[in-house]
Amino acid sequence: MRNGKSSVATEFTHTIDGRAENSKVFFAVINPATGSPFAHCPDASRLQLDAAVAAARRAFRSWSLLSFDERRGYLLRFAQILRQRAEELIPLLVQEQGKPLAAARKEVIGAPAQIEQVCSLEIKTEVLRDDPQCRIELRYRSLGVAGIIAPWNFPVAIAIGRVSQALYTGNTAVLKPSPNTPLTTLKLGEIAREVLPAGVLNVIAGGDELGPWMTAHEGIDKISFTGSIATGKKVMASASSNLKRFTLELGGNDAAIVLEDADPNAVARPIFWAAFANSGQICVAIKRLYVHERIYEPMCAALADIARAVKVGDGLDPETELGPIQNKSQYERVIEILEDTKQTAARILAGGHVLNRPGYFIAPTIVAEVQDGTRLVDEEPFGPILPILRFRAVEDAVRRANSSRYGLSGSVWTNDLTKGSEIAERLEAGTVWVNQHGALPDPRIPFGGAKESGIGREYSVLGLKSYMEPQVVSIPRTDPSDKP
Ligand code: NAD
Repeated sequence: MRNGKSSVATEFTHTIDGRAENSKVFFAVINPATGSPFAHCPDASRLQLDAAVAAARRAFRSWSLLSFDERRGYLLRFAQILRQRAEELIPLLVQEQGKPLAAARKEVIGAPAQIEQVCSLEIKTEVLRDDPQCRIELRYRSLGVAGIIAPWNFPVAIAIGRVSQALYTGNTAVLKPSPNTPLTTLKLGEIAREVLPAGVLNVIAGGDELGPWMTAHEGIDKISFTGSIATGKKVMASASSNLKRFTLELGGNDAAIVLEDADPNAVARPIFWAAFANSGQICVAIKRLYVHERIYEPMCAALADIARAVKVGDGLDPETELGPIQNKSQYERVIEILEDTKQTAARILAGGHVLNRPGYFIAPTIVAEVQDGTRLVDEEPFGPILPILRFRAVEDAVRRANSSRYGLSGSVWTNDLTKGSEIAERLEAGTVWVNQHGALPDPRIPFGGAKESGIGREYSVLGLKSYMEPQVVSIPRTDPSDKP
């Protein structure tokens, strides 16, 4: 547990079996724009996790028997109340996460829309054989209790995306936010209490032990985990205890390749925001920018100009465009990578320093002439720092983009869409965009990583099926007495 524990009472409560529950112990939640605690969060005990799982198991019996239409009805009502309470959640999300108000608004307002889109999908029974001998169907059954473990960069969007898929497909759930950003998520639980049958969605916050307790819990049937690769590997090992199903959405080190026919002035702004939105703390942020040597200098200059003009500050200030790094250890990690970069021959074109104020602020940093093999290129910094690498032959850019253990997403920037699409196909990544990067999550489109960026997919029918067990049902057409 990073933050000091106390017994301070709080307005934030867990949701277990449809009721508000408190804890005996609380931990401080830090506002990253000040570096100081601004609220306290109840710290769930092992017994509270057991109670949440037991409630979810009980609720599963009736929830899984409802039709998709009936569950859609509940979830759309949940979306409606979430929309009504959005204004209360937005400033809370800014305070705990650090993102600017406009970004927090987009995230919170986007959540009910996500629920609605998930509920527009259909899981159909597939007919595999239908002939005079037999009819064989492939059906999908709900799995049971889903354990959903979320990170701190998009606490609402990620939680709601997973919860809506799990519940819509007939599972019940226990949702755990990151200890860095637990409060808005606990509020989602409060809304669930108003709308969903008791036990269908349990929301509990806790410290560093809670995640491992969940992944090893015998009463949980599936883990949907979103977070770092290092933790994802631990989740996978732990889930083997009862052969839980799991989906792992992990880190990325996305490459964007800018071909020589692209116009630096036209693409600089979308590329900048695809790298720096949420202060670079997006799994699908551009984290390595490969630029053709012919347009390398103008591209660097255009990006550095934008970086120098961006307004960095407290997310509650409506003028702020980029907020702080979300937590101290992440802040220290980005500083470490920055210091490492300064030891190399790289050129820092903008930023390169922390801001002289409380909180975890780093000026948006653009680095040119970075070499492959440095920490900034090989690791996922997850902060406001972008390396720009030079290439001459497209082959070389593709090879360097692919020489990574990460494979979340990537992009190609060019005026030639056919060429862009051909190069996209050669990138080893779960999603590749042409002339855009990190488009808004769309629950109708599958999302997930190749290589060490994850296993499985969230969203779309593919994602929904990962919350279900395929079942073959075989019905003979012939009379059983006909059989030899
Ligand atoms: P993290 O791995 O530190 O933590 C993620 C969650 O796991 C938190 O709730 C944490 O409490 C919990 N946890 C920690 N140790 C655990 C364990 N041993 N067992 C079970 N749960 C445990 O990640 P983070 O720092 O919160 O998030 C940043 C990372 O998440 C980045 O690498 C980012 O790229 C990745 N991410 C990926 C996606 C995606 O969809 N692929 C989306 C957002 C973030």
